[in-house]
Amino acid sequence: MDLGIRGKKAIICASSQGLGRGCAQALAREGVELVINGRTAAALEATAEAIRREAGVKVVAVAADITTSEGRAAVLAACPEPDILVNNAGGPPIGDFRDWDEAAWMKAVNGNMITPIMLIKSVIDGMIERRFGRIVNITSRSVKAPLAHLGLSNGARAGLTGFIAGLARQVARHNVVINNLLPGPFATDRQIDGLTKLAAKAGQSYESFAKARMTEVPAGRFGTPEEFGRACAFLCSADAGFIVGQNLLIDGGAVNVTF
Ligand code: NAP
Repeated sequence: MDLGIRGKKAIICASSQGLGRGCAQALAREGVELVINGRTAAALEATAEAIRREAGVKVVAVAADITTSEGRAAVLAACPEPDILVNNAGGPPIGDFRDWDEAAWMKAVNGNMITPIMLIKSVIDGMIERRFGRIVNITSRSVKAPLAHLGLSNGARAGLTGFIAGLARQVARHNVVINNLLPGPFATDRQIDGLTKLAAKAGQSYESFAKARMTEVPAGRFGTPEEFGRACAFLCSADAGFIVGQNLLIDGGAVNVTF
């Protein structure tokens, strides 16, 4: 299936590994030119080179913290007129709500709500003028079904989701569409790290803890960044212009809801 986006330009935030990298890879395979981002320069450049070699597209690597205004400016300087923006950043830490002080909340809200909003604000008028824009925000299943140990994520991402619900409907008539992808459990470093901590707390090994978690997922496994990336690429496709302001769960059926 040709997604109709060959030659378009994309910014993929926080994409040296994990879900962001999956999105970058899938878009590159469609012939999209990329700006990828992460804080660790060496890992980021290795990912950029791997994608260039595999897909033969232009990939610019911008090592910067996307949750700072300087970091966002550096990414935007490398691609001032993107056709596609994939918003992503590291997620907040797990823990108990009693442990989170004002600074912890500010950090979570900055990273998972304000950062994507600021990036969208910077690029959306250009997308409207050019009559093409595709924005995907990587959020979490915690938006639909709160996770007790991830209160910072439940709260900050719900704020972004509410804002996007309104904005998506303001810009859709210009062929600029904004949607959110809600990952369930994916076998990325973040997920493995989180489960290792929870396993240690429960006095179990990562392996037995993860196996038990997988049996709770109707698909019987964790997802892969590659399949997440392909869903993202479809939401960025020429044919996705009528999909507006949606919150798409990609979770192997883990969230047990009808709608
Ligand atoms: P991951 O494997 O830890 O990868 C995170 C990526 O983001 C890395 O490339 C990291 O590189 C980069 N990054 C982190 N903070 C950054 C920052 N401030 N500025 C720029 N780049 C940054 O994580 P993941 O599992 O792909 O998760 C991605 C997002 O999805 C997170 O917000 C996570 O909470 C959410 N999520 C994941 C799952 C899951 O199962 N994996 C489920 C629900 C929600 P550097 O460290 O070098 O910066």
